Amino acid sequence: MKRTSIPERLAGNRYVTDEDESHIHVDQDLARSTGTGKRIVAVCPAHVYTEEPDGTISVEYAACFECGACLAVAAPGALTWHYPRGGTGVQFREG
Ligand code: SF4
Repeated sequence: MKRTSIPERLAGNRYVTDEDESHIHVDQDLARSTGTGKRIVAVCPAHVYTEEPDGTISVEYAACFECGACLAVAAPGALTWHYPRGGTGVQFREG
């Protein structure tokens, strides 16, 4: 049986982007003052977060595969995250 890597498995996922609403919002001031910004950039396996040169955290929410890791490292109130609206978000092909 051929073993496939994690990136190979993830490449088969399908994403349906909610063009009207992001399911992720960052409180920029709280993210900066609590260190949440640097932690969510470091922990997100989908590279959804980027720290801009001015310290602002940008969010490419369409790439999120809903693992919840960013929530585990965010200070209370610094990150608002909910599942994408019905019919949007990631659809896993391999469980
Ligand atoms: Fe990244 Fe996972 Fe958070 Fe989505 S839920 S933004 S993939 S860490």
